[in-house]
Amino acid sequence: MDYQGIFTFILVLIIAIGIIALRRWLFNVRRKQRKDFYKNYLQSGDWKRKRYLVLKRDNWRCVYCGAPATEVHHLKYAKRRIGKEPINLLVSICKDCHNSKHQ
Ligand SMILES: [Zn+2]
Ligand SMILES: [Zn+2]
Repeated sequence: MDYQGIFTFILVLIIAIGIIALRRWLFNVRRKQRKDFYKNYLQSGDWKRKRYLVLKRDNWRCVYCGAPATEVHHLKYAKRRIGKEPINLLVSICKDCHNSKHQ
């Protein structure tokens, strides 16, 4: 390999590492944005209405053990559409079952 070849190789390597670092950084930024957005969403009237609908649908009972439900659990998160998740992705759950779900 001549000098130019080595130089090109190093340049490509640096660019590749730069791209990987940039993507990782972007990923973290977006994840934080989603998290913040989600936190706000849980304070919103929209979420409270939806939560109420889910609890009412499940008769205020935990779908896993039948105890009175106090919380709502996401079976799946609508990754890019937080706040637009269909109600059938949500279930009523008691605190104990919810804690065990998120371990
Ligand atoms: Zn339960
Ligand atoms: Zn949950």
